[in-house]
Amino acid sequence: MYKSLRYVRVIVSLIAMGVPAWALVAGYDSVFVRMQVLTSIMGGAALCLVFWAAVTLIYGRIYCSTVCPMGALMDCVAAVSRLLRRKNKNYFYCKPSRRTRAVFLAITFVTLLSGSALIPTLFDPYSAYARMIEEFLARPLGRAYYATAYSISTMAVAVLTALGVIYFSMRRGRLICNTVCPVGTLLGIGGRYSYFHMEIDPDRCIGCGECVRVCKSECIDLPKRCVDNSRCVICFNCTASCPSGAMNYKSGKYRLGMPMMQSIDEARRRPAANMDSPMQTDKPINK
Ligand code: SF4
Ligand code: SF4
Ligand code: SF4
Repeated sequence: MYKSLRYVRVIVSLIAMGVPAWALVAGYDSVFVRMQVLTSIMGGAALCLVFWAAVTLIYGRIYCSTVCPMGALMDCVAAVSRLLRRKNKNYFYCKPSRRTRAVFLAITFVTLLSGSALIPTLFDPYSAYARMIEEFLARPLGRAYYATAYSISTMAVAVLTALGVIYFSMRRGRLICNTVCPVGTLLGIGGRYSYFHMEIDPDRCIGCGECVRVCKSECIDLPKRCVDNSRCVICFNCTASCPSGAMNYKSGKYRLGMPMMQSIDEARRRPAANMDSPMQTDKPINK
């Protein structure tokens, strides 16, 4: 089932990346523009934020794995990079950059509230994506409908954005999503408490590390059997790769990865299981 979900997610994200690009080049309006969080807020349509806040509180950051064209572009760059390498590049767990995320979020919203759109447009993933499409596709084809005149500074920003996306996506997957992007930080607050979330069943986990190797958000802390759902973009890579069915997209309260911490009663009922639990050791467990 998770493999099918992953395929669906990939197809939706490719559509969400391709349609706005085509619309920008062809000069059409696209529904995807109205679905973008920060673009809608800057346009005065705060209802979009309310909608995505509700969706994120229920399903986690599915916005980042389906609707955002910049996220899809990062995945494409990472996928091509992995294909070109003979040996797959593995991801690894990385601690959250909370301070960096907070700084970029604060800068974006303080400048937005002060009436300046310059910085928010710089950090807004959709605006950044649209800028690259306009400068690298629409303008060379003579179809830059929205750009008034060629500007060296706009081109420079587009080039720097493209270089940043390529460099960081190749090396660290969704690092930009979980550091710079203000939308990702905002949705991450909802993702942390979402009803559906990624969770490791410590009793089924064999400690193979496959989930960590494919997690482009670098948010699986395997020794603690814990997923940082504020950074998880619900891509289903880990669930589809887990050989023992321990990683799941579950509903309800987040269950701590360490059996002894789930409930004292449960721990008392299963002392033997707890002795063998992953909390006792970081080494792979052979069952
Ligand atoms: S974190 Fe930002 S750039 Fe990344 S997918 Fe989400 S909205 Fe797009
Ligand atoms: S935890 Fe799983 S679903 Fe979340 S980003 Fe990592 S691989 Fe994707
Ligand atoms: S068994 Fe599944 S959850 Fe455990 S380390 Fe392997 S892939 Fe990850």
